[in-house]
Amino acid sequence: MRNETICVRGTYKPKDGEPAILPINQSTTYVYEDGDYLADLFSLKEVGHIYSRITNPTVAELEGKVNMLEGGVGALSAATGHAAMINAVLNLCQQGDHIVSSNSIYGGVFNILSHTLPKFGITTTFVDQEASEDEIKKAFKENTKLLFAETVSNPTVRVLDMKKFSKIAKDMDVPFVVDNTLLTAYLYKPFEHGADISVYSGSKYYDGHGSSLAGFVVDSGKYNYDNGKFPALVEPDLSYHGLSYVKDLGEAAYITKARVQFTRDFGNLLNPFNAFLIHMNMETLHLRMERHSENALKLAKFLETHPKVEKVNYCLLESSVDYNRAKELGITGAGGILSFNIKGENVAKKFTSSLELATLFTHLGDLRTSIIHPASTTHSQLSKEDLIKGGVDESLLRVSVGLENIDDIIDDFKKALDKVK
Ligand SMILES: *Cc1c(COP(=O)(O)O)cnc(C)c1O
Repeated sequence: MRNETICVRGTYKPKDGEPAILPINQSTTYVYEDGDYLADLFSLKEVGHIYSRITNPTVAELEGKVNMLEGGVGALSAATGHAAMINAVLNLCQQGDHIVSSNSIYGGVFNILSHTLPKFGITTTFVDQEASEDEIKKAFKENTKLLFAETVSNPTVRVLDMKKFSKIAKDMDVPFVVDNTLLTAYLYKPFEHGADISVYSGSKYYDGHGSSLAGFVVDSGKYNYDNGKFPALVEPDLSYHGLSYVKDLGEAAYITKARVQFTRDFGNLLNPFNAFLIHMNMETLHLRMERHSENALKLAKFLETHPKVEKVNYCLLESSVDYNRAKELGITGAGGILSFNIKGENVAKKFTSSLELATLFTHLGDLRTSIIHPASTTHSQLSKEDLIKGGVDESLLRVSVGLENIDDIIDDFKKALDKVK
């Protein structure tokens, strides 16, 4: 099936007399006639539902759709994008382990890596993603367990050099984990460019209507964990009947462990109601992403011509440093997120309240055009130094271009910019 068909149809195949639309299975548990069958479910000899902390039929159809769109071997949902990131990392790392990450990432994930995980003995070295291959390799240590970056970064909207990053991960023999939230698997497929694992905030474009938080981890199934670095994936798991994920589950080792061990223990699976909403909203993902991309490019082109604008960051602008890279990666639509630097001191924060149509809120990927000043909001927990390193300076504004009529969006920005002193 092609992208558009996957968005509309997904994996849900109702049988005779069953609901045409995916039902909300609002049930904590499931019933059985046969005790042996239930025992087989517990030992993973059979596939089925036991308890909604681990799997749920509504959630499973959403995971199926997300996985199919990504081209992976399995997807695991989580309550939020942050929860998905925590699952993705803790499924690979334990106390004493180390991560190499780009410093040009979402502020919340930067916090997880730089402040919260160190309290559990997992540390991160941040690198400038534009540094040379050799420079980035210097950040690796004996105990490094993964390389992390965003395919398009939030809020600087830089396109990752996937060739360089996937080569580094291969040479250093660690899984390459990407956050592909800003592009979605409709616009860009990380596994075709060397990523091993994708993570998403499903709260953004997959939901797209600002109603539900969610997160996903998707596994390509391509990384070989049987290399001495990941004993927790190879040696018998005493918390799961002595199961060896790699030996017993093959290419589905990583994603199965993430579910039956971490999600089972941490209890952060997505709930069925949010899964139902996101599954339905994804039915129009392809249409929305096309229009978000079209509107964003038009607004970017307008902003570029305005005398009060210093610089516009959007990879499909011919003036963008990332233009050629985006073309090489086959990116023909870049989604709705752009950022720009406004001229003048201390005007950026004030500018966010001078727009009438564009809403000021802490979100992106919504139908409604919105704006935010990252340095005083989403990225305000970062130090001044980290802000500069991550490319988030005081004059930067991030816009999530929505699906209103583009002329109304442009008029709104024009009026507000003309008022800037
Ligand atoms: C929003 C976001 C997250 C966090 O997702 P939540 O669903 O808000 O927890 C992670 N990464 C990126 C790129 C994001 O934009």
